[in-house]
Amino acid sequence: MPVDTTLPYDDQNIFAKILRGEIPNRTVYEDEWALAFHDINPQAPIHILVIPKGAYVSWDDFSAKASEAEIAGFIRAVGHVAREQGLVAPGYRLLANAGINSHQEVPHLHVHLFGGKALGPMLLR
Ligand code: 5GP
Repeated sequence: MPVDTTLPYDDQNIFAKILRGEIPNRTVYEDEWALAFHDINPQAPIHILVIPKGAYVSWDDFSAKASEAEIAGFIRAVGHVAREQGLVAPGYRLLANAGINSHQEVPHLHVHLFGGKALGPMLLR
């Protein structure tokens, strides 16, 4: 179910629990600013979620309220993971759902990183 990302941050969301180590995940990268882990229901051969460590509901929340250091750290982490996964030469896709119409399901900002095959044109059904 999509979530209302205009609501305050809910620290019981699944990614908050992953950040606190309460739920296991398959981590591919972690630093001061971000955690990257395999999506539990992959939509491509490589499907990684990159999340900021801070409590931000959505791209909107993050872009409005995060510090310069948090934003830089998060964006650099996404790029780092893509390079580390060998995705620069073959190419990859980034996606961040934001809010009801996008069908964002987890109310903690996350960027999907897809790769590992030719993904084709982006289709919105
Ligand atoms: P959204 O629709 O919010 O953009 O994407 C949420 C993503 O989180 C989905 O791709 C879903 O498979 C993934 N997901 C949901 N729960 C878990 C979980 O407990 N662990 C992991 N690794 N991924 C999850």
